[in-house]
Amino acid sequence: MYFVTGGAGYIGSHCALELLKQGYEVTVFDNLSTGHTETCNILKSFGGSRFNFIKGDLLKPDDINNALKAKPEAIIHFAAFSQVGESVKEPAKYYENNVIGSLNLLNAMKKNEVRKIVFSSTAAIYGEPIEVPISETHPKNPINTYGKTKLMIENIMDDFDLAYGIKSVRLRYFNVAGADSNSLIGEWHNPETHLIPNILKSTFGKDFQLKIFGTDYNTKDGTCVRDYINIEDLVSAHILALNYLENGGETNFFNLGTKEGSSVTEVLNTCREVTEKNIEAEYTERRAGDPACLIADNSKAKKILNWTPKKTLKDSIKTAYNWEKKLQTII
Ligand code: UDP
Repeated sequence: MYFVTGGAGYIGSHCALELLKQGYEVTVFDNLSTGHTETCNILKSFGGSRFNFIKGDLLKPDDINNALKAKPEAIIHFAAFSQVGESVKEPAKYYENNVIGSLNLLNAMKKNEVRKIVFSSTAAIYGEPIEVPISETHPKNPINTYGKTKLMIENIMDDFDLAYGIKSVRLRYFNVAGADSNSLIGEWHNPETHLIPNILKSTFGKDFQLKIFGTDYNTKDGTCVRDYINIEDLVSAHILALNYLENGGETNFFNLGTKEGSSVTEVLNTCREVTEKNIEAEYTERRAGDPACLIADNSKAKKILNWTPKKTLKDSIKTAYNWEKKLQTII
């Protein structure tokens, strides 16, 4: 059985779905603070008796200690707060939830002799890039609290390997995009802050004014450049990371991105193409904390995990759009 913390959220639920598709038993552990019961219900109807949901909180050591008595093969740890802007305004909330929550999880793993964990890390641990594409050897100087919490957790994981033999694979995501190809589940944040869902939401005309943050960056067209990695490609790296650990792999860390950069304007134009709508946007000032350009050097994941991202930005936007249309009928 695989144990997925944060499995009611965006990336965790797609990972749980793929594990179920591959025939595994999956337990999702989530406090439903940002995840959705509806998502768990969909996973349940897909996985049947192979799917188990535990409503629990990583900030309550008893919750996670009791849950891990079932001794899963491995943990895939997504549960975290993940909004960069909010993390700067409310650092206490982020340090407590992300760092203490992860520490409680690792302690419960130690206690229950669970020794493998795949961790949802982020490109935000690198901070303002001094070199693009960004490889895993790039200096780690996070410029926001969110990135700092993830780096702290990575460091704690190193110590838990040295002292207790807990092996971790840390996957450092660039910009994750898209939804399940069958639109069973998708990205569902409240409030939504991410570019692609915001662009798509603006096509439903519900008092939502799309804003583009900054036009004076030193990039191809003045807007920020990001590396958009498809959610299903991203999930496939988690399965490979589990295999890697099961085959005796040592603690390791990998960037997950496509090595291709797209500007905000290019993303907007691709959304116009996919939706066949003339999406209007207001070009405004920069958003605090946005580096000009983030692109992954993904060669390490390709080489060691044998991972190959296959989907394009357009593929991601298509599935995201299908999901957004469905979401409009749910909310
Ligand atoms: N962005 C934007 N309008 C939005 C949301 C995002 O212009 O409504 C820009 C943002 O400033 C950044 C890029 O789109 O340059 C990607 O932002 P997102 O929040 O999707 O991901 P992040 O890069 O912050 O992880």
